[in-house]
Amino acid sequence: MSDISIPVPERFLNKAYLDVIHTQESEQCCVFAASALKDMQSIAERGYPDEICGLLVGAANTDGWQVVDVRQVTNINEERAADRFQLDPAGYQSVDSELRGSGKEIIGVFHSHPDCPAKPSPTDLTSAWEGFVYPIVSVVQGSVAEVHCWVLTDDAQMGGKFQKLPHHT
Ligand SMILES: [Zn+2]
Repeated sequence: MSDISIPVPERFLNKAYLDVIHTQESEQCCVFAASALKDMQSIAERGYPDEICGLLVGAANTDGWQVVDVRQVTNINEERAADRFQLDPAGYQSVDSELRGSGKEIIGVFHSHPDCPAKPSPTDLTSAWEGFVYPIVSVVQGSVAEVHCWVLTDDAQMGGKFQKLPHHT
């Protein structure tokens, strides 16, 4: 983590952006294996200034989520805007098949926000699934500035919003 101040583009202050975030934090928690958190941050820094994305591998239960590993997956969005990403479906399928029978599963999707806060955008909301964890890694000038994890309060089609999910290693 660095002490670099995080730029806040105008759109992050718009109602549309503020509306995707629930005011209360989740009472659940996301626990990362130290190596998984480090790998996720390295992937985000290596990809800078492009937006990267990948999958969280681990297990979920009623207390929350345990991340044991992360896998980078190609971002097939060619515009590479700071609030857009699209996971390569083939990459998803390949990790999913590999995990079959391992007792581990895909439990979330991470992506980076180059030179932007680690807050979800309206676009992030439209592609999010209930039950998945969505870490966002803010990378400023090539270094990780902050990481926040997000979960949906409800299905996005049902008016669900992102709730900040505390995380630790
Ligand atoms: Zn985003």
